[in-house]
Amino acid sequence: MVPYIVQVLNGLYAIGPIQTVGTSAGGLRESATSPFLVVGERAAIVEPGEHSQAAPFLEGVAEIGVTLDRIDYIIPTHLHLHHSTALNVLLDAIPHAKVVVHARGVAHAIEPTRLNASSVQAWGPGECNLNLNPVPEDRIIGVAGGEVFDLGGRKLEIIDAPGHAPHNFGIYDTLTKGLWCGDFPQFQSNSKRGGISINPPLFHVERGLETLRRFRACNPAVLLKWYGGIAHYQPELLIRTAEEDLLAFERICVEGMRQKLPAKEIALKLEEYKQSVGLIESLGQEVVQEDVRGPVALYRYLIQKYPDLEMPEGAIIPGRGEREMRRSSAD
Ligand SMILES: [Zn+2]
Repeated sequence: MVPYIVQVLNGLYAIGPIQTVGTSAGGLRESATSPFLVVGERAAIVEPGEHSQAAPFLEGVAEIGVTLDRIDYIIPTHLHLHHSTALNVLLDAIPHAKVVVHARGVAHAIEPTRLNASSVQAWGPGECNLNLNPVPEDRIIGVAGGEVFDLGGRKLEIIDAPGHAPHNFGIYDTLTKGLWCGDFPQFQSNSKRGGISINPPLFHVERGLETLRRFRACNPAVLLKWYGGIAHYQPELLIRTAEEDLLAFERICVEGMRQKLPAKEIALKLEEYKQSVGLIESLGQEVVQEDVRGPVALYRYLIQKYPDLEMPEGAIIPGRGEREMRRSSAD
């Protein structure tokens, strides 16, 4: 069945939401997302999504009337597996297309063993049924920010955007002033605040703040993402509140860790903060699930930043029951 297709803005199509296979109710990744097709004289796929979504997505592309020989680039904002595993199918289906990957992620795309393992660690073995297969090196374009992909009639600019993941970037569309920011910040179409996931496998506060400043400097007219509403027309509001919340999360965790509070109590304080600023209504249930696990990635970051801090008692890797996190030096 051809998926639902929305022309969000001029020549910018969201195809979906397309159901993903194997996500459980209350699970930790989105059960349905909408990969994008961006059409100029040439075309690009943005946020290709999961392996199981590739075939319905290509049906949507055919329905729009864009032939595969027009698609030059496949551009996930980052390599977290629910954003990227469709690559394997799409690169086979479109033999001349190249995938655009952050320079910090190229080695992981060529040899994804660690990337796959870190997703199992973040989501838990029961939650992660995804696997990126090695991407041939000659199909990859490595970027670091500042690169421009000219589609004819519109350009896509890459903005270095670490924080959520080291290999995350934003994508700015010159025709619509639309900006894809990946998972950072998160929002629904009617959100009053920009949300921040502080529990991916890795998280970095200073780089996150720098990324938000860079997004603001683009002066986008709309923020785009592939789930939960697709477009938000008050980028400045989302960026400013995301900055406020990121600093508040850091402060709450540092205070809790200094007092040697167990992870459960710190999670409760984070929850109280989110309630107090209206973040939970603004973003929906997904944020609540995260807190049950404790923001392990933020704890890891803080331990590296402040050597006197320790992992709070009871911080849990999702899917691994009560096993306690140890200090990690993973990059
Ligand atoms: Zn992510």
